[in-house]
Amino acid sequence: MNAHALQPEDALRQDVATANRILERVGLSHAFGHASARIPGTNTFLMPTRRSPGLAEAASLLVIDTEGRIASGEGEPNSEFWIHARIYAARAEVGGVVHAHPPACVCLTQIGEPHRIVHNQAGIFAAGVPEYARIGLIRTRELGDLLASTLGSAVATMMRGHGITTAFPDVRAATVAACYLEESAALQLRMLSAAGGDATRLRTFSAAEAHELRDQVSGSVARRAWEYYAAVAEATPLGGARAG
Ligand SMILES: [Zn+2]
Repeated sequence: MNAHALQPEDALRQDVATANRILERVGLSHAFGHASARIPGTNTFLMPTRRSPGLAEAASLLVIDTEGRIASGEGEPNSEFWIHARIYAARAEVGGVVHAHPPACVCLTQIGEPHRIVHNQAGIFAAGVPEYARIGLIRTRELGDLLASTLGSAVATMMRGHGITTAFPDVRAATVAACYLEESAALQLRMLSAAGGDATRLRTFSAAEAHELRDQVSGSVARRAWEYYAAVAEATPLGGARAG
């Protein structure tokens, strides 16, 4: 579909639905997880109802505000909507938030290894990926605020034994970044395994090297990545990532 032919909010709804389906189709989440987008210039955001992200539809997205009130739409929001609400409240420049439960990221948190930059696409995380160490779901405003303060000014946080949250100027970038973060964590685990578990043997990118790679979710790189993941989401059946 050519999103540019749609009205701005319709196009944004389409992006949010696609973002959610990507999370499920590429295996970042199954029954749980969600992507949202701020309606530009407002304190409201588009978010799916309480279903798998793989079942998200543009027409049934809810509009929720940063205080957790449903402004429009039918149905119940996902119970962790406070992640989105309180990050949008804390960060005016954030236009897209993704929360998912990708397995390699969860593994890293549970072996006590911080995220390290070991390949080009992870350059966007050069400023660091703080860890939210408290286990359990984010189902209250207070926990949403705690997560937002842990995230700080970073673009992603890893949540111990739980998953990840990314926050970017738009939902496409937040989604592509979530894919990159899981790819990065999976590579890091493989490298650790190949190195006999010795993290000192990883040839982690230096801060200066990583800084050179910070444009991986902007411009033509981002368009190409989004185009790819959106096409995968369209071509893959529901649950396809689980079967693979
Ligand atoms: Zn969660």
